[in-house]
Amino acid sequence: MERTIIKDKLNRPLHDLRISVIDRCNFRCQYCMPAEKFGPDFEFLPRSALLTYEEIERLGKIFVSLGVEKIRITGGEPLLRKDLPLLVEKLSAIEGLSDIGLTTNGVLLPKFAKELKDAGLKRVNVSLDSLNDELFGQINGRGVGTTPVLEGIEAAKQAGLGVKINMVVKKGLNDTEIIPMAEYCKEHGLELRYIEYMDVGSTNGWKMDDVITKKQIYHLLKERFELEPVGPAYFGEVAKLYKYKDKAVNVGFITSVSESFCSSCTRSRLSANGQIFTCLFNGNGHDIRNFMRNGATDEQITERITAIWNGRDDRYSDERTAETNNNRKKIEMSYIGG
Ligand code: SAM
Ligand code: SF4
Ligand code: SF4
Repeated sequence: MERTIIKDKLNRPLHDLRISVIDRCNFRCQYCMPAEKFGPDFEFLPRSALLTYEEIERLGKIFVSLGVEKIRITGGEPLLRKDLPLLVEKLSAIEGLSDIGLTTNGVLLPKFAKELKDAGLKRVNVSLDSLNDELFGQINGRGVGTTPVLEGIEAAKQAGLGVKINMVVKKGLNDTEIIPMAEYCKEHGLELRYIEYMDVGSTNGWKMDDVITKKQIYHLLKERFELEPVGPAYFGEVAKLYKYKDKAVNVGFITSVSESFCSSCTRSRLSANGQIFTCLFNGNGHDIRNFMRNGATDEQITERITAIWNGRDDRYSDERTAETNNNRKKIEMSYIGG
């Protein structure tokens, strides 16, 4: 496959793509889609606004020709999108793509894990913020206990998918779960990644004071476990990884707030309605759906994506302060997919 490596203004190559396939979700996680803001009257995107699988496949091929090697499917809750394995099959047939993953709340994995694996999916990241049913039900805003998610994790393992666990940690909400989650994941051979609570969107009421940093979590872990650092698997790896000394299981941190990693951020994002975002915190999307629907050729789309990436100079997390949160146009996490 012919590949042109494109770079942005800060010399960062385009290497991975996150595709949101739907903005709806069966959960209302407090830190992402608070139930009071995403109520029954909330207007989600109409179906006609969503990119079709054919459109996503076409864009996927173009992104791969521009250097993308990894694609992650996300949402909203991606498993709510009808026939998702069909999309996975289309994407995994793209020559030059080495990895395709999915981020999910896990509830629908018992139904889809095998089909997804057969379609070419390699790995899933399952979000789980607590092992305590009551607390987990409060966090997900729907009173759903942990059992469906744990069953989803098991189904993914049984299907032969790689499984990692994402836990967003928010002060006063689930910091008591830091050690129980580590113990559970270590015992079950699952890589747990603690995610610092971020100021994405403008509905979650984020405050810097609510953030528990990697350093704080690491200190707690060190009291209980012996850890050793593991180097990054590749340039642009966002997790800071450690390994338990007595077991070949990793534990990681996504330090978006306390130790930003913008200088190696090689990720582009495609929203469910076909807008390209060059940063999780840059609310100015670049329309590609209408351009495509109005008859643009592959060459024209390639040129447009190249121009967008060449013009990118985002480094929001490097510049973040407690104040920057209030004065920027931002995009909701559920819309862009993390
Ligand atoms: N619904 C799927 C899920 O929950 O895994 C995929 C979409 S969700 C937006 C993607 C990831 O973003 C999840 O791991 C979620 O925990 C994380 N996330 C959502 N809001 C966040 C926030 N405010 N700060 C940090 N991570 C967040
Ligand atoms: Fe839904 Fe995922 Fe957001 Fe939770 S984090 S509300 S599961 S999109
Ligand atoms: Fe990438 Fe933007 Fe996050 Fe920095 S703030 S790592 S540029 S997505």
